[in-house]
Amino acid sequence: MRAGPRFRYTQRLRDNDLTKLLGWPGYRVYRHEINERAKTLKLWIRRKRGNRKLVCSGCGRKLETAHDVSEREVRDLPCMEFRTTVVVEVYRVCCPDCGIKIERVPQLPSKAPFSKRFEDAVGQACESAAARQVARHFGLAASTVRAIDLRYLERWAAARRKPVLAQMGVDEIHLGKKQKFITVVSNLESAEPVWFGRERKKETLDGFFLSELKPGQRMRITAACVDMWEPYRLSIEQHAPNCRIVYDKFHVMQHASQAVDEVRRAEFFRKGGRMRGLVKGKRWLLLTRWVNLAAGKRQELNQLFALNRRVFKAYLLKESLDRLWTYRYEGAMLNYLQRLIDQLRWQRLKPFQKLAVMLLDHLDGILNYCRTKVPLGVVEAINGNIKSLLRRGRGYKNLRYLLLKAQRMAATRTEFVFKKAA
Ligand SMILES: [Zn+2]
Repeated sequence: MRAGPRFRYTQRLRDNDLTKLLGWPGYRVYRHEINERAKTLKLWIRRKRGNRKLVCSGCGRKLETAHDVSEREVRDLPCMEFRTTVVVEVYRVCCPDCGIKIERVPQLPSKAPFSKRFEDAVGQACESAAARQVARHFGLAASTVRAIDLRYLERWAAARRKPVLAQMGVDEIHLGKKQKFITVVSNLESAEPVWFGRERKKETLDGFFLSELKPGQRMRITAACVDMWEPYRLSIEQHAPNCRIVYDKFHVMQHASQAVDEVRRAEFFRKGGRMRGLVKGKRWLLLTRWVNLAAGKRQELNQLFALNRRVFKAYLLKESLDRLWTYRYEGAMLNYLQRLIDQLRWQRLKPFQKLAVMLLDHLDGILNYCRTKVPLGVVEAINGNIKSLLRRGRGYKNLRYLLLKAQRMAATRTEFVFKKAA
């Protein structure tokens, strides 16, 4: 006696169950293969009977008839412990506008052999781990993981609304010896980077204004937090006439820290021997503000100051400059700043004399802090996020990828290092 009909019945039942497990709307499983040893599951799927409307992938037009059909194999999410691949029937349509085109299938967003939801899973994993780790987890090459992640981020960026740019930040980030500097433009209100450009010339920032914004959008920019860097100022003045330039605390203090560091190097380099040993590894101590240091660290720093008065002086000057942003009224701020600049000039510390000249040249933009309310700490936070991405990713050759990564990070607030200005 043949068990044929009965067998076929159970077989169909299983495919029905697998259709439910698969969960691709409009598609059903009509064949499957389980390899227990290799732990793989392969499903053959096609459109359900009621799902006959084909969509042209070129223009989105709905069409009734198919031109031809073929199969595509993609990796999908795993089922239990089984690595799952899906073989899909894909149609081509004969579109009056586009000619012969492949149909649009929501789960097949690109030509790569992965389903959309598999790519989403890889992209989400990349939000909290390095590409190499994700690659190991999914059994893929790291380069494949990066390509998937990039497509995932591009889809996310295309689907969301872009916030209006009214207050912008312009910053420079050093990528390394080979790639040197990039210019980072950010939106201070949505706290995310909006554009990256190679180098830090006037032409770099010109490129942003001309390629990314229409004239009306350029007029709408009211404030920019930038470094005291002439090319940026020139570009902003040319392209965004309603924009007020603010030399913000983060950027000014970067220069003060550099000055402290220069004094430290000059003082201890010539001293050699025992002295150099004492100073070794103290660099970050000198660059950290007093209020942020624990008692033990303060003591270490005091020992260092006992050895060298000039380094002590440099540290105090930087601390005094930090207090500038506690003033809210222009007159008071100007008063404090002028006294400070005088101090800087008379200390006989070259790096601080240079700093005094710089502050004097940019007085108006520093005082703009009192005239224009801009969110504090945003440029610094974005800068920190990008640097942490660079550390983890070991170099991004693709700037677009780095930008999307940093935008996504800001939007999801993963690792958002927001240090509140004390
Ligand atoms: Zn079309």
